[in-house]
Amino acid sequence: MKHNFGAGPCILPKEVFQEAAQAVIDFNNSGLSILEISHRSKDFEQVVIETEALVRELLAVPADYSVLFLQGGASQQFAMVPMNLLPEGGKAAYLDTGVWASKAAKEASKLGNVEIVASSSDKNYTYIPKVFTVPTDAAYFHYTSNNTIYGTEIFEAPKVNVPLVVDMSSDILSRTINVADYDLIYAGAQKNMGPAGVTLVIVKNDILGKSGRTIPAIFDYRSHALAGSMYNTPPVYSIYVSMLNLRWLKAKGGIEVIERENIIKARTLYDEIDRNPFFRGTANLEDRSRMNVSFVMDTAEQEAEFLELAKERGLIGIKGHRSVGGFRASIYNALTLSSINALVDAMKEFEERYK
Ligand SMILES: *Cc1c(COP(=O)(O)O)cnc(C)c1O
Repeated sequence: MKHNFGAGPCILPKEVFQEAAQAVIDFNNSGLSILEISHRSKDFEQVVIETEALVRELLAVPADYSVLFLQGGASQQFAMVPMNLLPEGGKAAYLDTGVWASKAAKEASKLGNVEIVASSSDKNYTYIPKVFTVPTDAAYFHYTSNNTIYGTEIFEAPKVNVPLVVDMSSDILSRTINVADYDLIYAGAQKNMGPAGVTLVIVKNDILGKSGRTIPAIFDYRSHALAGSMYNTPPVYSIYVSMLNLRWLKAKGGIEVIERENIIKARTLYDEIDRNPFFRGTANLEDRSRMNVSFVMDTAEQEAEFLELAKERGLIGIKGHRSVGGFRASIYNALTLSSINALVDAMKEFEERYK
């Protein structure tokens, strides 16, 4: 048995994999594979309609927001956001809480002025800056709600007086949010919503079309909104598998239910990190992420040894990102409490061996 703690592409429920595999052979008893059908076919049209409806229902998306399924990953959003929202010569404000946040700011700086309102780079992004001022003349304020690499998370939407844009790639659908607090939410699917290849964008319609820029149609949110995510060939299979995962989440009881589970999972793992003298969390206590748990040991030898033990126990993908070192356990929606317990057991076993 493998326990997949990989940061992304991530674990999805087994039943999703099974149904997704079946659809490759025979989609909806059509005698055709999902991989060969037209994206304009009735059957696939229905998939897009249901996927959008599930996102709207699970996140309670207000009617004046568009829900889009795009390609290019969250990284394309780093560029699309300023293309669509930042006027020529205008200014955008960014909160720098990690590599992804800083990449997003860098892309925006190619299109206009960027003001970094605060940064935690002074302590290798182990905390979330709490005090900052967003200039009132900024076209928008951008932040990253969950810092996948460092294991820090911002649970509350910052109160700002300019349009609020958030990269929710690694905590979308993991906890309840009030979509109306945001003007634009984006998330690469492969951390918590589905497989790689599709990016979810939820955008308030009335913030679009105001930058005064000429935007290539493929990068203009309005083209995709107008065409119901069918401006060009969408990532058919990635949308389909996302739909299966959203169905699974709904059947489980929705986001409130998964949030409660995620809280218990995270607490179980952090409790062991805090109790076990061989391990140490890297993120500031109050900023700890519920999705990515980063921790280290005292020496490289111990870490190599624990990694070996983890491998023997089928614990996959726990090696930390090179910029943090140690370990990172990504504990997304589909990862079960029993996988958390398997990791905790391995940590206890290590302690028994060496104490
Ligand atoms: C993984 C990740 C990205 C990059 O996503 P791509 O889809 O690979 O472009 C951006 N932001 C966050 C928070 C991420 O976790």
